[in-house]
Amino acid sequence: MNTLILAYHRVNDWSEDTLAIHPAIFRKQLNYLAGKYQFVPLSELVAARTKRFNPEKRLAAITFDDGYFDNYLHAWPVLKEFNLTATFFITAGYIGTSKLLARDEKSGKTEKDRLLTWPEISEMKKTGFTFGSHSLTHANLASIDPEQARKEIGESKKILETHLQPEPTAFFCYPFGSYSPETKKMVAETGYQAAFVTPAIKGASFIKNIFTPEDRFSLKRVGIYRHTTLRQLWLKTF
Ligand SMILES: [Zn+2]
Repeated sequence: MNTLILAYHRVNDWSEDTLAIHPAIFRKQLNYLAGKYQFVPLSELVAARTKRFNPEKRLAAITFDDGYFDNYLHAWPVLKEFNLTATFFITAGYIGTSKLLARDEKSGKTEKDRLLTWPEISEMKKTGFTFGSHSLTHANLASIDPEQARKEIGESKKILETHLQPEPTAFFCYPFGSYSPETKKMVAETGYQAAFVTPAIKGASFIKNIFTPEDRFSLKRVGIYRHTTLRQLWLKTF
């Protein structure tokens, strides 16, 4: 395997959330991976994955889903310390509102589970970090009405581009990894350059050799969770 796209969600020192990784563990993982991979911006990884191009070095890119506030508080400083960049897929319709993701509303938590604000995003952007769309409302695109899905894909792009101009929003990430041939087509028609999924995996065998170009609208990532041990990380990224 020559290329690796990591999918994180949260980094913090207060949560038992299965999506949350302690900052000290996050550091350990980056240290470990930096010895095996050359970290590059996501756009470079996409170019390698979608062309018949065999990079001499093993390449890795870092992504975060959902747009949690702890990305700003804990992940961003560690990434800067390692001199790395990352792409954050944010729930565009909830940024700048007090809305929580549905998974957090149920548990009744608030401040620590809140999402990023536009000023926080703007600060991160100034240091070279990039942002992509994770839909408007974290919708399950393959199971909702197609017109609604088109809105989730298109309006989130407009919101991001309004706040992050002049850069176009090139990348989309399907909430829940839920997509269909139709939603993939919508993402392409809306003008995104690529889209990402996080398949449930056993080992790393699902990642195709780089000589077989992947469909750029369902690029596979490796999910890292609270229960992922360093050994599992090794298995997922050997
Ligand atoms: Zn998500």
